[in-house]
Amino acid sequence: MILRARIVVPMDGPPIENGAVVVDGRQIMAVGPASQIRGSEPVHDLGDVALMPGLINAHTHLDYTMLRGAIFSQPSFAAWVRRINAVKRSMDSDDCLKSIAHGFDECLRWGTTTVCTIASFPELMPHLPDPPIRTWWFYEMIDVRHRITTEDVVKGALSFFQHRAGSLASFGLSPHAPFTASLDLYRLANGCAQSFSMPLTTHVAESDEEFEMFTAARGPLHAMLASMRRPMGDCGHATPFGHLWDTGAINAQWMLAHMNELNDGDFDLLASLPRGGKPTIIHCPGTHRYFRRAPFAWRRLDELGVNLCTGTDSLASTDSLSLLGELRRLREAEPTLSAERLLRTVTRHPARALRREAQLGKIAPGALADLIAVPVSGSVARVHEEIVQFDRPIPWVMIDGEIRRS
Ligand SMILES: [Zn+2]
Repeated sequence: MILRARIVVPMDGPPIENGAVVVDGRQIMAVGPASQIRGSEPVHDLGDVALMPGLINAHTHLDYTMLRGAIFSQPSFAAWVRRINAVKRSMDSDDCLKSIAHGFDECLRWGTTTVCTIASFPELMPHLPDPPIRTWWFYEMIDVRHRITTEDVVKGALSFFQHRAGSLASFGLSPHAPFTASLDLYRLANGCAQSFSMPLTTHVAESDEEFEMFTAARGPLHAMLASMRRPMGDCGHATPFGHLWDTGAINAQWMLAHMNELNDGDFDLLASLPRGGKPTIIHCPGTHRYFRRAPFAWRRLDELGVNLCTGTDSLASTDSLSLLGELRRLREAEPTLSAERLLRTVTRHPARALRREAQLGKIAPGALADLIAVPVSGSVARVHEEIVQFDRPIPWVMIDGEIRRS
């Protein structure tokens, strides 16, 4: 199949006016000006659109899709954690499976072709649907309440996913956060990831209460976890990020959600790491606003060469799974960021974090045919800007070489 579009935006080079993309099965075979792309295949003319790689959501929890608007912003992060845990306990398996299905629908509507979603209900793993979009299920690991999480459980879940031929599902691990997952659990995750080459993600330095807990051994989150009999000996020494990094619990292959609360020592540590040796950081602008966090240090992290991604987080703390919507929010906080750089944080950067740079997040020979078409009417010079400003559902989506919305 040859796809023709008014502008092709490969994210791997400059936009191509009157461009074409050759797709064979699941793969992109060629990209270039329509005048130079020849073949016997039928031409599918998409018209006045920008054809670009599908968007990649580096951090969400589709389990919580039905919690949209269910939890009001709470006076403290600890209170919010208590509230969502109570709501989670009231959800049965059906609620959870419905949530995930609605979440996939919403992703597709907003042009997300790859999603990294945390699976918080491990008992549901065998009942999860074959995902309709490319999906990394990150198995959530928590041991603050002595939940048993052995390597066998992880291997069992992994073998389940490996046996689905042609599935769009992949698998990763997610120790929840340094306050709910022990260093042993992080080590277990690292060991499994090495054996099975899986991506790893965790929440780090999300709230000032987490920062206070680790640096000063006090505050509402510290009090809540101490009351749950969590061993608190790791508090009062280092920042959340410093604690995980210095103990070897996390390293450059980790995808770190949030990283909102960092001190100068944390920035020095990031600066001291070699360019390819820094972890990925995922910023979630809507959730950031919901919790009224202090401004995110985007520019400083960007200048340090950190691989920055934009995610939505869950609908328990934001109002939409639209990544373009999140980019517009990010732009409000960082008005000088170019639209092209914004778009990289939902294409090239998350592909790099997943170590799928050759296959995802760009239109290039050999990449997977995950594509979206965004209506545009302006010049090539403004095409990235027009894409970021597009606030309606994405009218045309292809995943794995199959047209899924048109
Ligand atoms: Zn999250």
